[in-house]
Amino acid sequence: MTEPLDTVDIAIVGAGPVGMALALALAGSPFRVLLIDSRQRGTWTSDPRALALSYGTRQLLESLGAWNVDAGTSIETIHVSQRGGFGRTLIDAADYDIPALGYVLRYRDLAASLDARIEAAQRLNGHEVVAIRLSSEAAEIMLTGGGGDTHRILARLVVHAEGTPANDAGVRVYDYGQHAVVTEVRPLAAHARQAWERFTPDGPLALLPLGPDYAVVFCVSSAQANELLQLDEEHFLAALRTSFGGRVDFVGCGPRASFPLALRIRQQLSTPRQVWIGNAAQSLHPVSGQGFNLGLRDAWELAEILRTRACSDAGEEATLAAYTRRRRIDRSGSMAFTDGLVRVFSNDLAPLRAARGLSLLALDLLPPLRHFVARRMIWGARAWP
Ligand SMILES: Cc1cc2nc3c(=O)[nH]c(=O)nc-3n(C[C@H](O)[C@H](O)[C@H](O)COP(=O)(O)OP(=O)(O)OC[C@H]3O[C@@H](n4cnc5c(N)ncnc54)[C@H](O)[C@@H]3O)c2cc1C
Repeated sequence: MTEPLDTVDIAIVGAGPVGMALALALAGSPFRVLLIDSRQRGTWTSDPRALALSYGTRQLLESLGAWNVDAGTSIETIHVSQRGGFGRTLIDAADYDIPALGYVLRYRDLAASLDARIEAAQRLNGHEVVAIRLSSEAAEIMLTGGGGDTHRILARLVVHAEGTPANDAGVRVYDYGQHAVVTEVRPLAAHARQAWERFTPDGPLALLPLGPDYAVVFCVSSAQANELLQLDEEHFLAALRTSFGGRVDFVGCGPRASFPLALRIRQQLSTPRQVWIGNAAQSLHPVSGQGFNLGLRDAWELAEILRTRACSDAGEEATLAAYTRRRRIDRSGSMAFTDGLVRVFSNDLAPLRAARGLSLLALDLLPPLRHFVARRMIWGARAWP
């Protein structure tokens, strides 16, 4: 059965953390906003990821009233090094006059705190977008629900926040040939709120303080990831020790899961009546934990432009053009930073290893250079002088 046409100003497709953040940032605006997700509410409770959120992200989440102070563990220092080569650098929150460089939070806790703030009238769950028909005035969105019923919504603007896109002509894909194996491990000694980023020829390995444990993001070739998932706990911890080196030891680990890693870049951030944010706009390698931080800034800036322009047509072309312009530097800077790190560090060539060691040493010995990198990670493009 086809239900009658519903009309809204803005339809956000995808109620992941980025879509939800946009809905919250638009609360109280003159726009009627509807947040649509193909999954039921709370499906995120099974997501195994932990995310490193920058201090700048904490500030934005606080403004949205969605900062979950109890669920996060602060990062006070970050130790960066490479396996099999010299050089290391230490980034310390004390140098930036902020209480922490960032926070580690489980995806599910982040989603739950955003979700708790969204009003029931604003959401439509269990409905998948099957087609969008565009006219000069509006977009007509066709949805199907679980019972096979169809639903139609007329929106002035469709915001795509459906997460990582499939291969399509509008998306450029670079497959890293890596998977991230994620789990939580118990360290032998307390972590003192220090995070570790260790570059290895197989891929980067991050240990992020989370409660008494470390959340692990262990990036390796796709074949190695399969093997790591099959190992029993003892052998998995042995593999982790081999990759990480002797600075930290582990006594136990939780369940493991893996994610394929590719860089996916949507070529055009907006087209008439449509705009893309978060992973739907760009999906990055998880090295240095940029993806959600960048996606939140997408949502924040889109809401800010929509509110400032406050015109009756949310999908006005000038608004979308302004959004695309405003996101250019932050977006390209974050993509180049993460992609560059993966490419430069994921190999074992001796001259490159030496050059990397010198770069890590330079970062450690030259505070202005280190501060530039740290500020870029904390605040994104807002950190440019
Ligand atoms: C292993 C790993 C570690 C990471 N670590 C970090 C980190 O430390 N720091 C960081 O900032 N980022 C990190 N990220 C990236 C971060 O997880 C993503 O950037 C973030 O989840 C993107 O949020 P999103 O809302 O755009 O997309 P998603 O979280 O993917 O949510 C998309 C939503 O859209 C819904 N949806 C999908 N298709 C449809 C449809 N057709 N119709 C309606 N709804 C639909 C889905 O059900 C889902 O709810 C990591 C990623 C991985 C894989």
